[in-house]
Amino acid sequence: MNVLDSLRNGAVKLPSLPVVAAQVIKVVKNDEFSLRELEKIISCDPALTAKILSVVNSSFYAVPYKVDSIDKALSILGVNGRDDIFVTALLMDIGVAVMFMCKPDDYMKVFNEKFSMGTNVVEAEHSIFGFNHQTVSSQILKQWNLPENIYMPIAYHHNKDKCPAEFCDMVDILAIADLASSIYHGSSTIEKLKKLERLLKDKFNVAKADVESFIDSVAEKTIEVLATFEIDASDMKPHSIILQEAVAELGKLNMSYEQLVMGLKESTKKAEKYAGELQKVNEKLKVLAFSDSLTGLFNHRYFQEQMEKELYKAERNSLVLSLIMIDIDNFKKINDTYGHSCGDKVLTAIGETIQASAREADTAARYGGEELVIILPETDMQYARVIAEKIRENVEKLLVRINDYNVNVTISAGISTYEPQRGIMSKAAIIETADRALYNSKMSGKNKVSTLELSYYSKDQETENCDWLLND
Ligand code: GH3
Ligand code: MG
Ligand code: MG
Repeated sequence: MNVLDSLRNGAVKLPSLPVVAAQVIKVVKNDEFSLRELEKIISCDPALTAKILSVVNSSFYAVPYKVDSIDKALSILGVNGRDDIFVTALLMDIGVAVMFMCKPDDYMKVFNEKFSMGTNVVEAEHSIFGFNHQTVSSQILKQWNLPENIYMPIAYHHNKDKCPAEFCDMVDILAIADLASSIYHGSSTIEKLKKLERLLKDKFNVAKADVESFIDSVAEKTIEVLATFEIDASDMKPHSIILQEAVAELGKLNMSYEQLVMGLKESTKKAEKYAGELQKVNEKLKVLAFSDSLTGLFNHRYFQEQMEKELYKAERNSLVLSLIMIDIDNFKKINDTYGHSCGDKVLTAIGETIQASAREADTAARYGGEELVIILPETDMQYARVIAEKIRENVEKLLVRINDYNVNVTISAGISTYEPQRGIMSKAAIIETADRALYNSKMSGKNKVSTLELSYYSKDQETENCDWLLND
C-alpha cells in the first residue's frame, strides 16, 4: 500500500502542526524574511518563547552570558538552523509516534515481533502496515514544509544504501544517534557499544577512549533536552555511572555470596557437632536402656537380644558358642546378716569382678536377682571352663568391706556350649542347660563350676517329632 494513500484515505491520521510553527516555517521559507518578523510571531507564544530561551541558554550553545530576549536568541540560533542535524535527529522517529497514536493495536504487534522474535523494527512495520516509520516521518516533515536536508536523511535513516550521496553523512550521524540513545534503553548493551565504537572509529575517527565520554554526554545532554521539552527523564544516568553502580552491586553480591558460603560452612560445622553429640547421647541412652543400674552390667533384655544374635552368627558361620550362668552362694544369708543394701554392695562387687574377667567380645549381664550370665562367642567348653574357674577364684579372693568387716562370698557356675556342626539348638535350651549345670554345682557343694552337654536333635528326629505331633 502506498504510504501517502494510507495517509490520505485516513488509515493514518497525521497530527496537525501548531499554528505558530506553521507561521514560522512559512516566514523562514521566504528568502527575504527579517528576524523582526520572526520575533513578532514567536513572541505571541509565551511557551515557545520560554523554550527557545532555554535552548539558547543551554550547554548546546555555550553562550558566555545569559540570553534574555527573543531577538538575541534568534541571532544566536541562526535562521538556517546551524544545527539542522540536531533537529533532524530529534524528529527522525516521529513516524513511530504517529503510527502508534493512529493504530496502537497494530503497532503493539510491531513491538511484540521485535521483542519476541528480534525482528528489525522497519521490517516488522513493513509486514504489518505495508510501510515503515522512516517514510511516515519524512512525509510528515515534508508536509510541514521542513527543508529537504531534514526530511531526506530521515527517509533513509535505516536504509543508507538507497540514500542519495549528499545525505549519506547525515544518515551516518543519525545511525550513531540512534545507536547511542538505544544504549540507554533496551537490551544487548555490550553489542551496541561495540557497534558504536566501530561506527565512530570508521566514520569519524573517534578514538575508543573518547567513546565512553561521548556516551556519557548523550545521557547528560538528553537530560537537558528533555527538561527543555518538559519531559520527565526519570532515572536516566550516564552510562559510566550505571556501570560503576553495576560493579558495586556485583561486589555486594560477591560479598554476600562469600558470606553465604561462610555461613553455610559454619552451619555445616555446627550440624556435624550436633550430630556427633546426638550420637553420643543416643549411645548413652542405649547403654541406659540396656544396662542394669545396680551392677552396671547389661540387663536381661539385652542379654536375650544378644544371645539371639550370637546364636544366629554361630549357626551361620559354624562357630562354637558358650554360656556361663552364675549364682551367688548363700546370698540370702548375706542379706539377712548385713542387710539388703550390703547385699547390693556384694552384688555390685561381683558384677565388677565378672566384667573385669570378661573379654571384649563377651557379654556379661544380670540375668535376674543374684544370677548373672556371660555369653562367650567362639569359645568352646574347655576354654569357657577356664574363664569360669578364673571368675570363681577371683570372687573367692574378693573381700567386700562392710561395716568394718571383710565379707567373703563365693559363686557357683554352670556352662553349656553350642557346637553347630552337631545340630540345631534353641536359645532357651542353651540357657536351660547352663542353668541345670549351675544346679549341679549347687548340689555338689557350691563354689564350683559344672558343665553339661546339650542334647541335639537331628533334622530327621525333628521331622519325626513333628509328624508324631501332627498325627496325634
Ligand atoms: P543358694 O546358694 O542356693 O543360691 O542360696 P541363696 O540364698 O543365694 O539363694 P536364694 O534363692 O534362697 O536367695 C536369693 C536371695 O537373693 C533372695 C533375694 O532377696 C536376694 N536378692 C535377689 N536380688 C537381690 C538384690 O538385687 N539385692 C539384694 N540385696 N538381694 C537380692
Ligand atoms: Mg538364686
Ligand atoms: Mg544364690
